[in-house]
Amino acid sequence: MPTSTVNRGIFAVHAKRLPHARMKALLKEGSSVSVQIIPRPVLTDARSVIVRVMMAGLCRTDLYAAEGKIKVCDPLVLGHEFSGVIEELGGEVNSLRAGQRVTVNPILPCLQCKYCLSNNAAVCQNTTFLGVDRCGCFAEYVCVPASAILPLPDSISDLAAAYTEPVAASLAVLKANLGPSEKGLIYGNNRFAHLLKQILNVKSLSNISIYDPAADGPLEEGSFDYVVETIMTSDSLTNMLHAVRPGGKIILKSRQYEPVALKMTEMLKKEPVMHVCNYGSFEEALELLATGKIDVESLVDGIYELEDFNEVLNAAKQKESLKPFFAPGGSL
Ligand SMILES: [Zn+2]
Ligand SMILES: [Zn+2]
Repeated sequence: MPTSTVNRGIFAVHAKRLPHARMKALLKEGSSVSVQIIPRPVLTDARSVIVRVMMAGLCRTDLYAAEGKIKVCDPLVLGHEFSGVIEELGGEVNSLRAGQRVTVNPILPCLQCKYCLSNNAAVCQNTTFLGVDRCGCFAEYVCVPASAILPLPDSISDLAAAYTEPVAASLAVLKANLGPSEKGLIYGNNRFAHLLKQILNVKSLSNISIYDPAADGPLEEGSFDYVVETIMTSDSLTNMLHAVRPGGKIILKSRQYEPVALKMTEMLKKEPVMHVCNYGSFEEALELLATGKIDVESLVDGIYELEDFNEVLNAAKQKESLKPFFAPGGSL
């Protein structure tokens, strides 16, 4: 029976894994989502680790998964943005240690395709996404490949570290080669828009405003060099096309699960450059968070029990201004 030593603050806890140990998890089974007591994950192979989840953030993808809007495995523990502490290591994992504070890149490349084999796993087309294609982090424990782990610097809090994935997603916008003299618009007034604005500001891109389609007046035609989308609908795409200058950049960022309509006659008149951006570097995201230059605490709604999931998910569907968190493994 494997044993591990986990440092929890000033306490050193000697945890002995019981053969039938169980845990609390937010589970989607068929069309129902509920908190259940299920078996704790076991190491799937010698290169995996078990992480005790300290802080886990909720995002749109989790809502789409919970609502059945995207295809997920069944049954599924939801959640993919988190920080935690390594509880147990596979036999071939030498670079990490039990008790280490970590976060995880939830996009797991297949490691077998032509991209993965040519050192370009970032564009792997057969990725497995945590909390969608395999069990995620809205649980006391989660099993992940050691290759997905990022150790945390001491200076970063559990809460900030659980924000790494959205920061890495925001950094992807920089792939569009934006210049400091260019005038930019972030389309949508939500927590992602405010996080993105902070990050672009840190990168010396300060000529940027946030547009709230529900509250602000109509946008002036052709008045922006680039527009970054945070709410992808046919209407928002039409409005962004209207707002960008001829030959300007439209940067598509959010993970809309439904197709959207493109007005091709308008597109042809404007000839915009379309950038579709997935993720930037997770390492850079962690570094940025560790410097404290980005204030993610102001974008936190609150920290909830898993049992509060119904209210939390319903509130998150209505309002996207702040991110709710669960702390499933913190009370042990
Ligand atoms: Zn996310
Ligand atoms: Zn691959």
